[in-house]
Amino acid sequence: MRFVVVDLEATCWASERPRPRSQMEIIEIGAVRLDESLEVADEFGSFVRPMVHPELSEFCIGLTSITQTDVDGADRFSEVFARFLEWIGNGPHSLCSWGLFDVSQFQLDCRRSGLLFPEWFETKHINVKGEFAAWRGVKRCGMAEALDHLGMPLVGTHHRGIDDARNIARIVQQMLPDLADSAAEQ
Ligand code: AMP
Ligand code: MG
Repeated sequence: MRFVVVDLEATCWASERPRPRSQMEIIEIGAVRLDESLEVADEFGSFVRPMVHPELSEFCIGLTSITQTDVDGADRFSEVFARFLEWIGNGPHSLCSWGLFDVSQFQLDCRRSGLLFPEWFETKHINVKGEFAAWRGVKRCGMAEALDHLGMPLVGTHHRGIDDARNIARIVQQMLPDLADSAAEQ
């Protein structure tokens, strides 16, 4: 079993100017593949051009550090998603992400673009946020807090998809061997 650790960034707005969840669109897919030994095998990173709200809010630019130029020069979701699936290739894989946001955002964008949502994204999903909390016996927390808890630095820029994916992958590398050991003992 190999692991695709994925982190998405999406259009967003300040809490004073909220928009419906359904209007959020992926603007970056960042992913790291871990092989059976949990070593980093390769990476995928791409910006995505949003179509419903092509102009990023100041809030979104501030949060993610993704610029208008980054997304203006990117392909739309259907093209990037096709490349992402091609990069993943044939399984078996598990999809790892922090919480449930990324899987539901993939569902949303697939539906909007008339694409088939790969069922295994959900059936083979590992919610690293939930697993981390159970593993360490702590409340569910953000990725930055989890790294802090493990005494690991946050490498790169938080809220950039590729950097978040790399950092989540580092947590997975610590956590999964322990989880596998405890599963074997039961
Ligand atoms: P993250 O993986 O934590 O960088 O978050 C993924 C996406 O969730 C971001 O690209 C935003 O669309 C949204 N998001 C994260 N944090 C916030 C926030 N504080 N306010 C609004 N949207 C957010
Ligand atoms: Mg992120």
